[in-house]
Amino acid sequence: MEKFVYLFHEGNGNMKELLGGKGANLAEMTNIGLPVPYGFTITTQACNAYYESGKTIPTLVEKQTLEALLRLEEKMGKKLGDPKNPLLVSVRSGSVFSMPGMMDTILNLGMNDETVEGVASLTNNPRFAYDSYRRFIQMFSNVVLGIDTYFFEQLLEETREQKGYASDPEMTAEDWKEIIVGYKEIVKKHTRKDFPQDPKEQLFLAINAVFDSWNNQRAIVYRRLNKIADHLGTAVNIQSMVFGNMGNDSGTGVAFTRNPSTGEPVLYGEYLINAQGEDVVAGIRTPQPIAALKEEMPSVYQQFADTCHRLEQHYKEMQDIEFTVERGKLFILQTRNGKRTAQAAIRIAVEMVQEGIIDVKTALLRVDPDQLNQLLHRRIDDSVEKRILAKGLPASPGAATGQVVFDADEAEQLGNDGKKVILVRPETTPDDIHGIVASQAILTSRGGMTSHAAVVARGMGKACICGCEALRIDLKAKQFSVGDMVVNYGDVITIDGSTGEIMLGEIAMIDPELSDEFQLLLSWADKERKIGVRANADNPEDAKKAFDFGAGGVGLCRTEHMFMDIKRIPIVQKMILAETYNERMEALDQLLPMQQGDFEGIFEAMQGLPVTIRLLDPPLHEFLPDKEELLVEVTKLQILDPDSKELAQKEKLLKKVRQLDEFNPMLGLRGCRLGMVHPEIYEMQAKAIFYAASKLAEKGIEVNPEIMIPLVGHVNELKQMRELVIETANKVQVETGRSIQYTVGTMIEIPRAALTADEIAEEADFFSFGTNDLTQTTFGYSRDDAEGKFLQAYIEHKVLPENPFAVLDQEGVGKLVETGVTLGRKTNPKLKTGICGEHGGEKSSIDFCYRTGLDYVSCSPYRVPLARLAAAQATIRHELNREEVYTTA
Ligand code: PEP
Ligand code: MG
Repeated sequence: MEKFVYLFHEGNGNMKELLGGKGANLAEMTNIGLPVPYGFTITTQACNAYYESGKTIPTLVEKQTLEALLRLEEKMGKKLGDPKNPLLVSVRSGSVFSMPGMMDTILNLGMNDETVEGVASLTNNPRFAYDSYRRFIQMFSNVVLGIDTYFFEQLLEETREQKGYASDPEMTAEDWKEIIVGYKEIVKKHTRKDFPQDPKEQLFLAINAVFDSWNNQRAIVYRRLNKIADHLGTAVNIQSMVFGNMGNDSGTGVAFTRNPSTGEPVLYGEYLINAQGEDVVAGIRTPQPIAALKEEMPSVYQQFADTCHRLEQHYKEMQDIEFTVERGKLFILQTRNGKRTAQAAIRIAVEMVQEGIIDVKTALLRVDPDQLNQLLHRRIDDSVEKRILAKGLPASPGAATGQVVFDADEAEQLGNDGKKVILVRPETTPDDIHGIVASQAILTSRGGMTSHAAVVARGMGKACICGCEALRIDLKAKQFSVGDMVVNYGDVITIDGSTGEIMLGEIAMIDPELSDEFQLLLSWADKERKIGVRANADNPEDAKKAFDFGAGGVGLCRTEHMFMDIKRIPIVQKMILAETYNERMEALDQLLPMQQGDFEGIFEAMQGLPVTIRLLDPPLHEFLPDKEELLVEVTKLQILDPDSKELAQKEKLLKKVRQLDEFNPMLGLRGCRLGMVHPEIYEMQAKAIFYAASKLAEKGIEVNPEIMIPLVGHVNELKQMRELVIETANKVQVETGRSIQYTVGTMIEIPRAALTADEIAEEADFFSFGTNDLTQTTFGYSRDDAEGKFLQAYIEHKVLPENPFAVLDQEGVGKLVETGVTLGRKTNPKLKTGICGEHGGEKSSIDFCYRTGLDYVSCSPYRVPLARLAAAQATIRHELNREEVYTTA
């Protein structure tokens, strides 16, 4: 005989398919001995049998249901419909997958004109009894009889108005009694029948309704959208009601088994004496902290503490528990994995390993790498109220407060005077670098997640919001506006680079913490992961930070950032404007010791770990003044001082700026094309690297330079630039008498490079995939324009699942990466491979890099901890076939 009905103790947590998710969970909790209000589950098979019998409950299902009811009544010492001691039950649907389209819960089933009196005298609270009865009529009539709630609400509102009440709590027992009469009339009018008084009839009508709800429109649409099979059916859970409002020995509450905000292993939550579930959330009465339960009901508290312990041991996770105490007896209504902050997630994962509850791998899978951002930057105190002025792209996490300035020079001046400033620009360029350094944060109205401001800010660990198009910036008037709101130079704003929110005034903040647990968790991650993690760092400070955050080397040192120092720009301009070779060499000779100093600092900070230095990449015009501004100055001088030397100089400069002007700078004279046209620049840089290396070697400090040629598209580019580097190295080695170990490799950031990687690999010791440019060139999306202009709409309209500049497009750009690795290793099996685009610090992209067999990922120093954890998760997920289950706040 097929079994269609399971008492809770007859099931278990693995029977989701038959008992539904809720039923299986209730069975599991019952079986481990938790005080769960008793009940039974009618299976999903019964639902299918119901449909097979033409939407009638088969006799066998009915028979088994009545038998289970009898067992339930015996267990509870109450009977459904008993006027003196009535059993009241809840009826809920529950399919294998949680489905919001399904039937709403019915509470208090079993209420009728007689049992309501029993409840009134048992609770000693007639008002509660009549209120519960009218709620039951309303719920049942809507869910089971299909009468619109509107009719009941309307009557209630009219009655309240008549009596001059503002809200329901003012209604008395007599008022509710009156309402019940009215409610019954509504039912009679709509169904031409009296409201069912027989509790068994109520029960079977409710079961029918649950089965019917499996095929209501909402449920069908939900299943179609979520690809849930139609044949699964829903189970029905029938559970005895418990009441927390039966006097001062009753109550209800919610609690976490550990503090969800700090992770401290103490019970955390609140409860209300003599109250029902809704009262806790309604906020009318202030709940007590759970610790007070210890004083008020010591034995219940002890029961609760033991239960919490047992739940954690069983589910091996921090639990979020709903409970009710009915006349001194504890009941657990629900338990689930509790949501938590990043700080708590780390502490709980680590301490559960130390307590022997979970193993290290499980702990590593419990923490969401994305959440770690919260801990590495100053952040807004969530407990304070904030008014958001506008929202832009969250380009670099962290929060900052400062006075608004609109000019890099001013930012530098005020910053040097010790003022906290936020640099607000339509977008930033390399000219603004000194202002960025001096600012607390950057805010731009244009540009995307890989715009200059975003990349530089992330590298420096400064908060940044980009592409906030709601900002109307008036640089002349030194103000910006959002709608009617105007913010002037010097006004204080706060920005949150983690959310993209801009707020007026100063908002309280919390400092970052790298707790002992955090360090320990990361050390476990390092043991598990099979892929290296390096950092993108352009100066000794960032390199030091990267080293402290556990980077295994520098994966990308963008040397152009070294050229953008305010003191160096005039020399760089001299180099660009030089008319003769000698003139250019003079400038380069001045730059060489400066570059050498930078490299010495970086090598020293990295203590022998590999440092990948990329030779100069950007378009040259970036080092020159703005064309329009220069034109204005020249025109002014032509009128006011036509014979001046200054005019002659400026005219010369303008001519050069015009010469260097490009329609498409991103596709123009950049990367190794610059080295091809001006080999002396790359030669100077190579010299600086080798001088720095030999100087440190002399001091006994190990160095491991890797010289990288950017934006190669054809093997011959790399061949020639590599020869230049090797020749330079040889010269320096002869000159210093010291031999230096080094390698030469290239970035793969142009589709052609990926497609001809076999040829290129013959000239390369390593490949570093520059996925910022590779995304730009593969999609043909300008990395500076796409995010602000159309990408948002693309994501909204589901043209793209994600922003491909933030999350690697595995199907397209990823295919080029795979091709590059495969072809490259074919001709050069020893080829080292890594990624240094922004994707190197994003968890799904890191997973891709692991699967593709890259040797390392490289990201900004502040994302190194995240990448270490994500790399470990990739290993565990793929080698042990295990999924992460994050429960984040
Ligand atoms: C890249 O293109 O991915 C890269 C790392 O180089 P950049 O962002 O400096 O162009
Ligand atoms: Mg690039």
